[in-house]
Amino acid sequence: MGTTEEAEARGPDGPALRVLVIEDEFVVATTLRLHLEALGCEVVGVARRADSGVEMAHELHPDLVLMDIGLPDRDGIEATRDIVRDLATSVIVVTAYEDERVQRALSAGARTVLTKPVLEEQLAQVIGELRTERASDGPPSDPREP
Ligand code: CA
Repeated sequence: MGTTEEAEARGPDGPALRVLVIEDEFVVATTLRLHLEALGCEVVGVARRADSGVEMAHELHPDLVLMDIGLPDRDGIEATRDIVRDLATSVIVVTAYEDERVQRALSAGARTVLTKPVLEEQLAQVIGELRTERASDGPPSDPREP
């Protein structure tokens, strides 16, 4: 690979994915942020509550949200439903639970569910897929620089 020094705001495939992290545990949020930045994503915000996270999603229009389920104010699955209903944002649900909540999260519109602890390789795969989709969609509001 040997492209780590290029993994800044703009990767080799165009603009970096803009990501919002909604996670109440500081250590987990920080770890996710470091993984995302290592993968060349731009972390545009971190929210610790579901409602403030949904608000931030509406303000920032991120390409991707990483969503915890167990949040202090309400369920991250409900917040996922709110975001995918209103925005063209992909949501990846991140959870410690491997039970019926996984299916509920997918039914709510989550693109996929990752189980904690989330490894950088798992994120790399999903982010690679998102980048490929965006490249083939060719977003018109994205003037390519030479
Ligand atoms: Ca939590």
